[in-house]
Amino acid sequence: MEHHVTRAAEAAAPTSSPMLRQTNLSLVLRHLRDHVSKSRADIAEATGLHRATVSNLVAELLERRLVRETGIEHVGAIGRPRRSVALHGAHVGALGLEINVDYISVHGSDLSGRVLVERRVGFDTMASGPDRSLRRLSRVAREAVEAMKRAGAVPAGLGVAVPGLVDVARGVVTFAPNLDWHDLPLAARLSTALGLSVPVMVDNDANLAALAEHTSGVAAGTPHLVYLTGEVGVGGGIIIDGKLLRGADGFSGEVGHLPVDPGGARCGCGRHGCWETKVGLAALVRMAMPERPYQPVTDPEERATEIARGLAAGDRRMLEAVAEVGRWLGLGGSIVANLFNPRVIVVGGYFATLAEWLLPHAQAELERLVVAGPAAQCRFTASNFGFGAASRGAASMVINRLIDHPTTIMDPIPRLAAY
Ligand SMILES: [Zn+2]
Repeated sequence: MEHHVTRAAEAAAPTSSPMLRQTNLSLVLRHLRDHVSKSRADIAEATGLHRATVSNLVAELLERRLVRETGIEHVGAIGRPRRSVALHGAHVGALGLEINVDYISVHGSDLSGRVLVERRVGFDTMASGPDRSLRRLSRVAREAVEAMKRAGAVPAGLGVAVPGLVDVARGVVTFAPNLDWHDLPLAARLSTALGLSVPVMVDNDANLAALAEHTSGVAAGTPHLVYLTGEVGVGGGIIIDGKLLRGADGFSGEVGHLPVDPGGARCGCGRHGCWETKVGLAALVRMAMPERPYQPVTDPEERATEIARGLAAGDRRMLEAVAEVGRWLGLGGSIVANLFNPRVIVVGGYFATLAEWLLPHAQAELERLVVAGPAAQCRFTASNFGFGAASRGAASMVINRLIDHPTTIMDPIPRLAAY
């Protein structure tokens, strides 16, 4: 145990300012979120906080069970052993939900990201209308809260992903064309329905999926990353310099409504020839299985898997349909690449299920159309989160908020004695 506390260290330790304490606790937690397990000395070096301050903060976080000791780490041959700590918070839950055209998906984890609940239920949101949809969403959320409690974690926040334009600050869904929702105060209504006294946050599904990919996906940590949802609708989440690009009103990334073919089919948004009328799952099903029109209540993953079986068996009509969709995917991808110069475009939903057939066509078209050519070095890659990326991202959003405001999950305990 080291106890060389100097006068300077005491001065640097968090004292009476709750603001400073919150900022410093948050710094330590954020570092542990991004770096798995670290010693106090590593944390001090990376955050610029004094070693004694870090020891005090870690002691407090240990007492609150938000971090745990992970063991002894030896640095170099003659280095002193260091005790490492990692994010813990097994009792603090983060619940992420996604409501989409034909399903509701759930991802519950604890503060360290350990998965506690994961499920998806088929649900025809459009035909149900906002009131019934909200009741169903509340029921699914309530069941998830109970399951998390049984696993020992009480949700400290709830995030909801929605395929549409979201006023994030107010938790209002401004417009979700594929759900036919207009100005729906989702956060307030869900909060009332659940009777929970924890924050409810709402954001666009593609933004949250991009957050999940950037946090823990196949291209995690890539600072310039675009995520595309491949469902009935197509949305984009754009990460630039490691940060989600939101735009003036939080409406950036509506790539599904890029007008790629103004003479084309009518889109859910009322316009014609939007990108999603070319690459959305309904468009693929129409081309690949014209005798079986798209039924929203069918689980999209099941439908995609069915098409994958046909492709694997060499079904010519399906192969042609997927090639056509792949080329449109590359064309739209080239617009995104020309605008944002991402290193990677991660595709989710059914794009990921059919990646081995879709992406070669998409990549070839992208390379043909990107102005910077090979110099742009942008590649399509498939997400491995299936249809769960947005709900996973919704849980990440909750964890990030808790890490930014750690005192909200810390019960008052007697002041720690100053070391
Ligand atoms: Zn549209």
